[in-house]
Amino acid sequence: MTAPVYFDNNATTAVDPRVLEAMLPYFNEVPGNPGSTGHCFGAEAEEAVEDARETVAEMLNCKHSDFLFTSGATESINIVLQSFAKISAQKKHFVTLSTEHKAIIDTCTFLKKSGIETTWLQVSEEGLVDLEALEKSLRDDTALVAIMLANNETGVIQPVKDAVAIAHNREIPFLCDATQAIGKIPVDVFDLGVDFLACSAHKFYGPKGVGGLYISKEIDRKGLSPIIHGGGQEGGLRSGTLNVPGIVGMGKASALCMDIKKEAAKLGILRDHLESELLKINGTLVNGIQNSRLPNTCNISFSGVDASMVMEVVSQEFAIATGSACNAELSSPSYVLKAMGLSDERVQGSLRISVGRYNTMEEVEQLCTRLTSVIEELKNY
Ligand code: PLP
Repeated sequence: MTAPVYFDNNATTAVDPRVLEAMLPYFNEVPGNPGSTGHCFGAEAEEAVEDARETVAEMLNCKHSDFLFTSGATESINIVLQSFAKISAQKKHFVTLSTEHKAIIDTCTFLKKSGIETTWLQVSEEGLVDLEALEKSLRDDTALVAIMLANNETGVIQPVKDAVAIAHNREIPFLCDATQAIGKIPVDVFDLGVDFLACSAHKFYGPKGVGGLYISKEIDRKGLSPIIHGGGQEGGLRSGTLNVPGIVGMGKASALCMDIKKEAAKLGILRDHLESELLKINGTLVNGIQNSRLPNTCNISFSGVDASMVMEVVSQEFAIATGSACNAELSSPSYVLKAMGLSDERVQGSLRISVGRYNTMEEVEQLCTRLTSVIEELKNY
C-alpha cells in the first residue's frame, strides 16, 4: 500500500525541516530559561526569543515590542475577548461573524455570563461580511469588533481593511484572527490597521502549541488583563516560562514565509487544477467567493453524495476533511457553510481539501482520479 497523502493543511502543517533544525539545540544544548539571564545559557535563550520576536514582527510588519508569544491563536483571542469583557461596565457589546472559528464563537458565548451581548453578523452565500450590516450593528456600547482575515473551512478572505475603517470611525477597537492567512497570503498589520491580530505557528510550518498576539501601540495595555497569572512574562500579559524551542521554530517559520507570493502562486496552481478536475463531476459546486479566497483552499460540494462516506472510503489514502478540524465529529455538518445559507444537501456533500508546501501536481492528479471514481460509484449506489 502506498503512503497516504496529506491534504489537510488548514488543520495543521508539517513542521518544515529547516524549522525543526533551528529548534533542536533549544531542547538540550541551550537549556536556559530566558527569565534567568544571570548566566550564559539563560542569556542565550533570551537572545533566541528576542531574535524570533524580531523575525515574526518583520513578517507581520509591526514592531517587535508589539508582539507577544502565547500558546496559539485560541489563547491570544481569549486574552483580548476576556479583557474586553471586563474593560468597561458600560461597553458590553461585541460584533463578530457567524462564520468565525470556534475560538471566537465559543469565547463570545462563554462571556455572555459576564454580561457580553454579541451581534453575530450573517455572511453572503459567498461567505463575505456585509459591510453595511457591520456599520449598522455598531452601537455606543460596542466594545470590540472581531472579524477573521481568512476562513479555515472555505478560505474566504474578508475585507478586513474596510471593516477596520468602519469600526475605527466609531473608535471601536478591532481584533483580527489571521490564523489561516499567515503563510498563504501576505499579512501586514500596519496595512490592515487592526488593533489586535492572533496567529498560530502550526498553520505555517512551525510547531504546534506556540503562537502570538499583535497589540497595536494605540491600545492602552493597562486595560488588558492576563488569563494566566504567575511570573509576569510577556509584559505581564502571559505568565509562564517561555516555550523557547517553539518560539525559535515560529521565528524560523516566519522567516520562511517572509516572501510568500511565490509559494502562494504555486499553491494556487495546484488548487485551481484540483478544482477544475473535480468540477467535471456533474453537479459539483465550489463554495466561497472565487476572487477572494486563500490560494490553497478548496471547499467543494458534490451533488447526491454524502461527503462523510467519501471520507470513509479514502481516509487511508488521502487526508482531506469535512468541516473544520476543531469540529472533529465527521458527521457534524459545517456551521460555516450553513451560515452561508447553503442547502443541507450542499453542506452534507462538502469536502475541504487544503494543499500545502509539500504537495505536488502528481499527488493532486492522484486525488482527482480517486475522488472522481469514488464519487461516481457512490452516486450510482
Ligand atoms: N482561528 C482559526 C481561523 C483557525 O483555523 C484555528 C485553528 O484551526 C484557530 C483560530 C485556533 O488555533 P489554535 O488551535 O492553534 O489555537
